[in-house]
Amino acid sequence: MREAQRPRWTRIVPALGHSGSGGRPLLDGVVISVAPGVIGRWVLRMLRRAAAAGMDVRPLAAGVAAQRIDPLALFAAAVSQDTPRLDALARAQGDDHGVLRALAPLIARPMLQACRRAWAGRVPETWAYGHCPICGSWPALAEIRGLGGSRHLRCGACGSDWRTPWLRCSFCGQDDHERLASLASAESVSREAIAVCDGCTRYLKTITTLAPIRPEHVMLQDLGTQVLDVVALERGYRRPAAPARRMAVGVVAPPSRWRDLLGLRP
Ligand SMILES: [Zn+2]
Ligand SMILES: [Zn+2]
Repeated sequence: MREAQRPRWTRIVPALGHSGSGGRPLLDGVVISVAPGVIGRWVLRMLRRAAAAGMDVRPLAAGVAAQRIDPLALFAAAVSQDTPRLDALARAQGDDHGVLRALAPLIARPMLQACRRAWAGRVPETWAYGHCPICGSWPALAEIRGLGGSRHLRCGACGSDWRTPWLRCSFCGQDDHERLASLASAESVSREAIAVCDGCTRYLKTITTLAPIRPEHVMLQDLGTQVLDVVALERGYRRPAAPARRMAVGVVAPPSRWRDLLGLRP
C-alpha cells in the first residue's frame, strides 16, 4: 500500500489510447514506458518480502539475479494478468510452487492503483459490465452503499468502483431471479452476505457500507472477509478462475535510458 502511493508509479501512467467503449478496459492496449532498473528493484523487493514470509522464492530470485528473467516481460505479464505467460515464466525458472502466480498481483498493484487514480474520471458513465473498467479484473466484492442502497462493484487490484444493477450476476449476466440467491448470515444485523448464481456457480461477497470503501482498502476488505469465501466454497460456488478479458499491455524501456544503461555496461 505504501509503494502504491509513491509518485514514481504516477509518473509512468501512460496516455489512454481509447475511450473504453464496448466493454474494453482502459488498460487494454496501453504501452508503459519505464526503466528496467525500477521494475527489477521492485520485483526483487517483493521476492525478499515473500522469502521473509517463508515462501520459497529461490528459483525466481536466481533467475532475476542471472538476468534470465526480463523484469519488463514479467511486469507486463503481471499487469495484464496474463496467467499462461506467468506460468511459462515460472516453469522456465523451476518455480513449480505457484510463487510467481501468487506474487504477480502484488507486483502489478502499484501500477494499477496509479492508473485508477489517473483514469477514474475517464470511465464511461454507462459502464455496466461485470469486469473492472480500468484493469479488466473481476470484482473482489460488491458494496451496497448508503441509505439509498445503490450497488457498486469494487476492484481489488486497482480499487475502482462502478455501479451495477441489483439483480444480475456480474460474471455471466444471468438476470433470472430464480437462479440468483443470497447466502446471508443468521444474524439479522450482519452487513455481509454472499450473492450466488446458479447459472455459472460463481459467487460475489456483498458488504453494506455507509461510505465507499477507500480504493486502496478494497483488497483488505477482501482479505478480512475470507470466512465468506469458505462458506461459498463449501456450498459449491467459486470465483472465476480465468481473468475477465484477455488484455494486451506493452512495457518498454525509454530509449534514452537504454542508451544510458548500455553505456554504463563494460
Ligand atoms: Zn481494476
Ligand atoms: Zn452467473
